[in-house]
Amino acid sequence: MTTTTVATITRIVNITWTRAAKVRMTANVDMPEYGLKAQQVFYLVRSSADNNDYYLLVWDYAEVKWDCPCKHSVERPQARTCRHRRLVSADCRARKEAKKANALRLQQEIQEHLNNERMHQQAKAGAASIEQRMQVAGFMRR
Ligand SMILES: [Zn+2]
Repeated sequence: MTTTTVATITRIVNITWTRAAKVRMTANVDMPEYGLKAQQVFYLVRSSADNNDYYLLVWDYAEVKWDCPCKHSVERPQARTCRHRRLVSADCRARKEAKKANALRLQQEIQEHLNNERMHQQAKAGAASIEQRMQVAGFMRR
């Protein structure tokens, strides 16, 4: 007699701790019951059923798209998008833009710091040369 274990992966969850339209999360540990590996990023997107069912979306590397367990997506496996995937994609885009803006701001701060440093060095060099000229002119004794 053989026993076949079919791993069932839960991709629709009912949660009560939020009413947010979408939540971005990272798995702390492996959660095979949800098909998640430790450190994997996933999204919970509220279904339109308004019963606080959330779809668990994960990035499908092979298909290069977010995988959504909603009825629309399951019935149309070729579909590239759905309302939930659009929400997630928009969030990813916004995060990318914010990251870019942060990197730019950091770059500007570094440049400002370097400019200040250069001005400081130039001021020091200027002061030294004035001192030298004054010495030459006999205003100062060595
Ligand atoms: Zn969907």
